[in-house]
Amino acid sequence: MTLDLHQQALATIDAAADELRLDDWMRALLHRPERAIAVQVPYVGDDGEMRVVPGYRIAHSTARGPAKGGTRFHPDVTAEEVAGLATLMSVKTAVVDLPLGGGKGGITVDPKRLSERELESLTRSYTRAIAGSIGPDVDVPAPDVNTDTRHMDWIADEYARVTGAPAPAVVTGKSLAAGGSLGRDTATAAGCRTVVLASAHRLGLPADARVAIQGFGNAGAHLARLLAADGLRVVAVSDSGGAIHDPDGLDVAAVAAAKARSGSVVAHGATEIGPEEVLTVDCDVLVPAALEGAIDARLAERVRARLVAEAANGPCTPEADAVLQERGVTVVPDVLASAGGVTVSCFEWQQNLGGEQWSAAEVARRLDERMSAALDDLWRVSESRRLPLRAAAAVLGVGRIAAALAERAGVVEEALAS
Ligand code: GLU
Repeated sequence: MTLDLHQQALATIDAAADELRLDDWMRALLHRPERAIAVQVPYVGDDGEMRVVPGYRIAHSTARGPAKGGTRFHPDVTAEEVAGLATLMSVKTAVVDLPLGGGKGGITVDPKRLSERELESLTRSYTRAIAGSIGPDVDVPAPDVNTDTRHMDWIADEYARVTGAPAPAVVTGKSLAAGGSLGRDTATAAGCRTVVLASAHRLGLPADARVAIQGFGNAGAHLARLLAADGLRVVAVSDSGGAIHDPDGLDVAAVAAAKARSGSVVAHGATEIGPEEVLTVDCDVLVPAALEGAIDARLAERVRARLVAEAANGPCTPEADAVLQERGVTVVPDVLASAGGVTVSCFEWQQNLGGEQWSAAEVARRLDERMSAALDDLWRVSESRRLPLRAAAAVLGVGRIAAALAERAGVVEEALAS
């Protein structure tokens, strides 16, 4: 049986806790979210009728700073899934060493069936429902699957209405006009690019390494463009409409134009392949940049890449991960390969708190520096403890959270003793 995402996240934490010999009280804290709220979200449909959908906001850990993580609108969202994703966010922010904890939110709804006005009504209502639990020093939402700058601007505006004072640092991923950061829209791709280039270099892959990317949304499309500009050959890409392949390298700009025109990459006209073939095509680097669970054990047997960089959250099942490890494929885990977004979110939050606006070049420089340092940390832990990168990431992240918890406990003890 495949474990669900929350169970997977807990299994990862447990393995790291064993490796680090953590105390039981720390394990207990890491196992359950610090705070989880489930809300009912009423909104007004275009027909004037009220509708109600379930929503969640879960702060898994604030040991290292305010909880941080995206807000997902998807028909499959459950409390368990959000808790799992929140747990992964705690590890992610710790791996990149951001002064933040981990959280996640979601609404169980199919946003593709909602008009723009309905989406706004829903997002504002959700914000009112969770307003008491979020805040610049407490828990800071951001975009995730099916949410973007529009939703974040509505959250910022509604939060200001509820509290009576503007506080742009309550949410990140805002438009520039609402206090967003330059470079946030391309941050996940830019962070993944740093990781891919540095890892490819370590593995001795050729400068024109062949890349296959599953998912041509925000992360996948920008990443394809960046890597092609770096001289790599993007040989296959896919989206929900299908997959295309060209062993000599696709013209990424033309693929993006085709998608903008028709809604899918397949309109570009290169050889169409099966949707799963994008994962098993002959290439050096594979980037799953779509949803979780995309690569199972069966597909992992057929992956031909030497390097997998997880730009999505949880794209490899644990069984797939074991197969890839067995086959000697290097997997840079999601908690690092997809951390570019939250890293620039952190920069946005810091700019808002300090009343600053950093240049695009400054954001790019800091992002590259963070991601490179985190990757170096990861390889170091992997080599010194003889662990695969995923397990090393968990040890690095959980170790940093545990250190913060221990420091807090020390402060409490001191206060009680004095
Ligand atoms: N949703 C993104 C993630 O999973 C970004 C979160 C954020 O920017 O806080 O990492």
